[in-house]
Amino acid sequence: MTRTGIFFTHFQGERLRDFPQALAGILDEENVSYYDAVYESRDGLYYLEPLSEELLLRVHSSAMVESVRLTGDYESASYSAGGTVQAAEKVFCGEIDNAFVFTGFGDHHAGKDFYSGMCYFNGAALAIANLKDKGIGRFAIVDTDCHHADGTRDIFKDDGNVLHVCFCHQDYNDSYNNVDVMISYRTSDEEYLTKVREEFVPRVESFKPEYIFWEYGYDATQGEYGDKGLTRDCHIKLAQLIKAVADRVCEGRLVVVLCGGSGRELATYTIPRIISCLAESGR
Ligand SMILES: [Zn+2]
Ligand SMILES: [Zn+2]
Repeated sequence: MTRTGIFFTHFQGERLRDFPQALAGILDEENVSYYDAVYESRDGLYYLEPLSEELLLRVHSSAMVESVRLTGDYESASYSAGGTVQAAEKVFCGEIDNAFVFTGFGDHHAGKDFYSGMCYFNGAALAIANLKDKGIGRFAIVDTDCHHADGTRDIFKDDGNVLHVCFCHQDYNDSYNNVDVMISYRTSDEEYLTKVREEFVPRVESFKPEYIFWEYGYDATQGEYGDKGLTRDCHIKLAQLIKAVADRVCEGRLVVVLCGGSGRELATYTIPRIISCLAESGR
């Protein structure tokens, strides 16, 4: 049975107002663990930890870390990215097989020495730095947020051990396994899924990563600020596709990181379904 961890960190804003209540039912399932900084879970209180400064400085410059400190969001950003680090570590320990990480701030616009778009620290990059210390060598990051993952690209652009496939506004491909796939406006779900099947799946199958990180943004959904024409159900199909790839390629080791998107209804519709897919709960 697949064991799924849900990491619920501090957050701000409207979009996650319905959580964790919207996870009712899922949280009761035997194979689902809930890691939280705030609420009591079945297994008692579990306190998520903020990031260590040592790990932060492995990925980000000290000037950048200091400038995040000045925003007043440092603590929240630290818990937010810390959830991704802990999720990947729990997968590494064998406590869970896959994870969904609720983030208060995004990941993929945070580079070595810059941040933007409410992405202060790059949780996936920090989790990868942490796993590299434990001897894990190869990783894949698939990014279905509407926007280009400039921060993640900045961190891994010269790293041949990280496959980075980003679905955004341009086509690009280099010898360091950095790939961009252009998604035009008014793309249908089927067209999008076909691009993921053609551009991500064969690459990840031949790359053979030990972990897959999925930057899950829903801002390309109809009516969102990055509207590319996708329906809300496209994300559920993406989850099925990416989970199946992780099952085939890396024994199911998949960490899903919540990225862009603003609509509360879309979050409440898609996230529980994505988690159900991860946990194979048949909802
Ligand atoms: Zn975005
Ligand atoms: Zn891109």
